[in-house]
Amino acid sequence: AAEEVDEEAAALAQMLAAYRGVWVFVEQTEGEPARVSWELMGVGAQLAQSLQTELCAVVIGENVEHLCHEAFAHGASKAYLLDQPVFRHYRTEAYLEACCTLIGTYQPEIVLMGATGMGRDLAGAVATRVKTGLTADCTGLDVDDRRNLRQTRPAFGGNIMATIMCDRFRPQMATVRPHVMPLPERQAGATGEIVREEVALAEADILTKVLEIIRDKKAGEVDIAGAEFIVSGGRGMMAKENFGMLQELADELGGVVGASRSAVDAGWMPHERQVGQTGKTVRPKIYIACGISGAIQHLVGMQDSDLVIAINRDREAPIFDVATYGIVGDLFQIVPAITQRLRDL
Ligand code: FAD
Repeated sequence: AAEEVDEEAAALAQMLAAYRGVWVFVEQTEGEPARVSWELMGVGAQLAQSLQTELCAVVIGENVEHLCHEAFAHGASKAYLLDQPVFRHYRTEAYLEACCTLIGTYQPEIVLMGATGMGRDLAGAVATRVKTGLTADCTGLDVDDRRNLRQTRPAFGGNIMATIMCDRFRPQMATVRPHVMPLPERQAGATGEIVREEVALAEADILTKVLEIIRDKKAGEVDIAGAEFIVSGGRGMMAKENFGMLQELADELGGVVGASRSAVDAGWMPHERQVGQTGKTVRPKIYIACGISGAIQHLVGMQDSDLVIAINRDREAPIFDVATYGIVGDLFQIVPAITQRLRDL
C-alpha cells in the first residue's frame, strides 16, 4: 500500500512538473490595455523569479501586437499572441477557446487575470474548462517551497484574511483587484519573444454578436481608482450639499472626491465614487478621510494609500489605526481651514 501511495505521489509530482511559466492575461478594449494587466506583471515577475521560470503575457485581440511590446516593457520575456478578427471584441466563448488552446499547448504553472468584469468572467470560464481551481479578488500572492501559489484574499466581509492553495492542480489561477498591486517601472525598449498562434474559430462558431458598444463612463466622469489625491466623505458629512466642501479641497490638491458606502447609500455620492470592499480599491498618494469611521470594509479599499489623513471627532474611531496623520475635531471647521491654507500658499 505504501508503494502505491509513493507511486501516486510520484505521478502527481511528474504531472505538476510539466507546467512552467507565469502568465498574465493582458486585458484590452479596442487595443487599449487595462492598467491592471501591468500591475499583474509586477507581481508576476516576483513569482517568476521565486519559481525560476519565465513571465509571459497572453495577448488576444485584433491588431494588438503593440501590446506585446508594452508587456515586454513591463517585465514579460515572452508574449503569446492571438491576433485574429474573431477576437476584435471580448466575447467569453472566443476568448475561452483562445486561452484554453494556449494553456493546453504550453502548460503554464500560474495564470493571472485582473478582477475586472472581463477578467472575472474569463477566469471562471477557463478554470472550469481546464478543471483547475481559481481564487478570485486576491490581495496578495506568493509561492511556497513546493511551488504552490499562496493566494491571500479577504473573507467573511473582510473580517479575516484567507490563504488559499490549489496544490494538486495546474495551472494555478487567480484574479487580482485593480490598484492592489503596485505598477512596475516601465522599461522603454525592452524586448522579448513573440509566439504567434492561431485558433481555428469562425465567426459562425460564436453565438454572441457585439452590435454596439455603449460606454458607461459619461464625459467628465471621474475615475477615483486612478487618482493620486482623494478626499473622501462619510456619514459624518451629514448631507449631500456638504460634499461641495470636499470638492473644493480636492480641487486645490488636483484630486477627486470619494465616499464611504454610508454616504453612497444615503444618495450623497454616486456608486462609482465608493471606496471599499464593494466599491473601488484605491492607492493614491494622499487619502483624506472626512467623517469616516474606518469600518474594515472601507479600510480594505484604501489602506495601501501612501499617506492617510483622517479627520474625525471621535478619537476612538478605527480610521485612526491606519492614518498617518489624525485630526480629532469637527470636519466642518477643519476641512475649510485646510482648503484656505492651501489657497494661501
Ligand atoms: P459611520 O460608521 O457612521 O461613521 C461616521 C463617522 O463620522 C463617525 O466616526 C463619526 O465620529 C464621524 N463624524 C460625525 N460627524 C462628524 C464631524 N462633524 N466631524 C468629524 N467627524 C464626524 N463601507 C464602505 O465604505 N465601503 C464599502 O465598499 C463597503 N462594503 C461593505 C460590504 C459589506 C458586505 C458590508 C457588510 C459592509 C460594507 N460597508 C462598506 C459598510 C461598512 O461596514 C460601514 O458601515 C461604512 O463604511 C460606514 O460608513 P461611514 O464611516 O461613512 O459611517
